[in-house]
Amino acid sequence: MMMHEPALFAGLRGRLMREASLARHTTWRAGGNADLLYVPADRDDLSHFLRGLPQNVPVTPLGLGSNVLVRDGGVRGAVVLMHDPGAALAIADGLVYADAGVASPKLARFAALHGCAEAEFLAGIPGTVGGALAMNAGCYGGETWRHVARVETLGRDGEFAIRTPADYAIGYRSVLRADGSSADEIFTAAWFRFPLGDIARGRAQIKSLLARRIATQPLSLPNAGSVFRNPPGDHAARLIEACGLKGHAIGGASVSERHANFIVNPARRARAADIEQLIGHVQAVVRTRTGISLEPEVRILGESP
Ligand SMILES: Cc1cc2nc3c(=O)[nH]c(=O)nc-3n(C[C@H](O)[C@H](O)[C@H](O)COP(=O)(O)OP(=O)(O)OC[C@H]3O[C@@H](n4cnc5c(N)ncnc54)[C@H](O)[C@@H]3O)c2cc1C
Repeated sequence: MMMHEPALFAGLRGRLMREASLARHTTWRAGGNADLLYVPADRDDLSHFLRGLPQNVPVTPLGLGSNVLVRDGGVRGAVVLMHDPGAALAIADGLVYADAGVASPKLARFAALHGCAEAEFLAGIPGTVGGALAMNAGCYGGETWRHVARVETLGRDGEFAIRTPADYAIGYRSVLRADGSSADEIFTAAWFRFPLGDIARGRAQIKSLLARRIATQPLSLPNAGSVFRNPPGDHAARLIEACGLKGHAIGGASVSERHANFIVNPARRARAADIEQLIGHVQAVVRTRTGISLEPEVRILGESP
């Protein structure tokens, strides 16, 4: 990218890296580089960064990279790393406030400890609050947007806005702007409304939910959770297993033996292309054998080399 960065980025307080590996920032541990990788110091610093960046440079927010496949050719423009171990969580006016960079399991524990119910499901989703908002993450009957009172967003022009659920068309793992425009703003914070619950019960629920995940998911191997959305009335994992695809490998990537809707990178040697080819292979086999088209849940970013 041809830019005179020192002038553009004067006064920034975050960390700016060029040609930075994104494999380190995705749970699949695969993929290429970002032209620019920015770790903002805080929300105002991020706004400053966006205002300084030429408007034609694309910006991609990344949380904990637990739902993305970054192609081997990398991502053009700037990737902004949103995860922040020091991000704020608070109780405000009966709502739970979370910066977008908070890890979702941390939000789940915070809510449970403050006597809030129905946030427990977030304990098993290893992303950030921003990623959960972008994906409408959910499991075991829980869904992120069911509890959102309002969000703070940051536009590409560096301006903040407060939005409510009415501003969005929210679906299964899908969040679009209600006016039809793409939801290309960055979520910087959210206020959640959870019903009152019992602290001991909430903690016990989190514990049993995590035990269930450890028993059923290949959590010790690099993965990105469920690769495909569940088709209406069925489970992607059931279809993939029924097609005999468990263990099927391409390059360094294989369909998990433990959970057929997971693709794992056991030796950390998979290229993103191996994973993408395996996704295509699973889709083709399931379509031929069952007539059902599986749609990826993971988001594929960037370019092939
Ligand atoms: C072991 C495992 C289990 C999982 N289980 C579940 C599950 O039960 N249910 C479920 O729904 N998901 C699950 N996932 C997938 C994933 O954890 C969720 O989708 C999670 O919410 C993604 O958060 P993230 O911060 O990692 O987002 P990323 O993967 O970093 O990003 C995902 C998308 O969101 C966008 N994005 C990220 N942050 C922001 C932001 N601040 N503002 C705007 N856009 C943003 C990115 O650009 C990208 O398009 C699982 C993943 C793993 C590895």
